[in-house]
Amino acid sequence: MALLDILVYPDPWLRKRAEPVTEVDGDVRRLADDMLETMYEARGIGLAAPQVGDGRRVVVIDVSEEHDTPRVLINPEILERSGEASGEEGCLSIPGYYDEVVRATWVRYRALDRDGQPFEDEAEGTLAVCVQHEIDHLEGRLFIDYLSELKRKRVRKRMEKRERQVSAAG
Ligand code: ZN
Repeated sequence: MALLDILVYPDPWLRKRAEPVTEVDGDVRRLADDMLETMYEARGIGLAAPQVGDGRRVVVIDVSEEHDTPRVLINPEILERSGEASGEEGCLSIPGYYDEVVRATWVRYRALDRDGQPFEDEAEGTLAVCVQHEIDHLEGRLFIDYLSELKRKRVRKRMEKRERQVSAAG
């Protein structure tokens, strides 16, 4: 397994719509494994392939406290959603910024697992939020898109400033 670089907003990869995986082969499994390792290292609870510069519809999630319940979602789709609640969200591609987003509190979704087997599941609470957040990434959508334009511009400036500092530091 290998650690991948997590791209930071406004990297153009984060705005691309990801393409469906046609076959879950060793290459896709390697990507999912590397994404899981990268997510754990970054102390995140979810990561989508565009965040590591890969244009395939692959998502990894682990919302457990012990980090022992990894989920791999390939070509995930939300089938049904209900409820609505506001909660604080962050994103590994927008480091250090958190804000309130309204999401469905329950979703039913389908995906392929790491072995390419189709499955359907329901999620609520943090997992439901995470599934919605990560599937948004596959559409090139970020949680700050739900905020006001003014806030989004501020976040962009902040991230660009951060990016310049990183480059200046080598
Ligand atoms: Zn994110």
